[in-house]
Amino acid sequence: MNEIRAFIAHHEDEVQVALYAILIISLWFAEIFLSKNTAKSKLKHLRSNVFFIFTGLPIQLFFTGFVILISAWDNRHHFGLINLIPYHTNPWVYYISLFLMLDLCEYTYHVVMHKTEFLWKFHLVHHSDLHVDVSTTVREHPCETVVRTCFLMLWVFICGPLLSVLVLRQTFQTFANILGHTEFRLSERVNKYASLVFITPNLHHVHHHYQLPYTDRNYGDVLSIWDRLFGTYANLDKEHTHFGIDTHMDENMNSKFGNILKIPFQKFERPGDQFHS
Ligand SMILES: [Zn+2]
Ligand SMILES: [Zn+2]
Repeated sequence: MNEIRAFIAHHEDEVQVALYAILIISLWFAEIFLSKNTAKSKLKHLRSNVFFIFTGLPIQLFFTGFVILISAWDNRHHFGLINLIPYHTNPWVYYISLFLMLDLCEYTYHVVMHKTEFLWKFHLVHHSDLHVDVSTTVREHPCETVVRTCFLMLWVFICGPLLSVLVLRQTFQTFANILGHTEFRLSERVNKYASLVFITPNLHHVHHHYQLPYTDRNYGDVLSIWDRLFGTYANLDKEHTHFGIDTHMDENMNSKFGNILKIPFQKFERPGDQFHS
């Protein structure tokens, strides 16, 4: 038992990646058995997203080292907004305050990716998937992975969390992201209550609807409270939700890894109301 604990402590990154991989693979098979899709169509779709693991993971792991250094520097110098929170030495106050702060930071990041013309070109790659399923979780242009991890370094610098908080938050965040992209939706009744606080799969599906204003709704990462607070919350039923992004509905462009990588560097016509002002 001690050996297992020691192994997990020394290989935390690898253990987390393995757990996420197991979760994604299990959900992917569950989607085949429990939804109307055939294994053939699921495999075809998987081919368009799976290669993003090999671009995203190395970038993510490379920047993790910098995130750890920034967190250590902040804590050595008692720097960061957390130090301004009353009673922050109480572990409950400390963990909950940082969780909320970092979730608000991720909400802000997502809004910035939508509202900045240059960054939107990279983020739309995630939105261009015409069949959202669990594999869409990893569909992120490598340039966005760099931007996202740079923002994470900024958030860590500003907030000043301990590494243990970051690991805990990262775990919640990854589970929420994976679940948010599954084909499974909560029943309307359960969603009504869960979505009071959390970004449910139903809410994230709305964010993947191909047209405004729904593309610019439900930016939240784990919590839906920021969307409710800042007026970006929306519901849309399954029958009216169509995945994709209206500027990029060409199946051929959206389903080949090589083509998808080129999307941000190509000119495209924006419908009158498409660009997010
Ligand atoms: Zn988005
Ligand atoms: Zn998504």
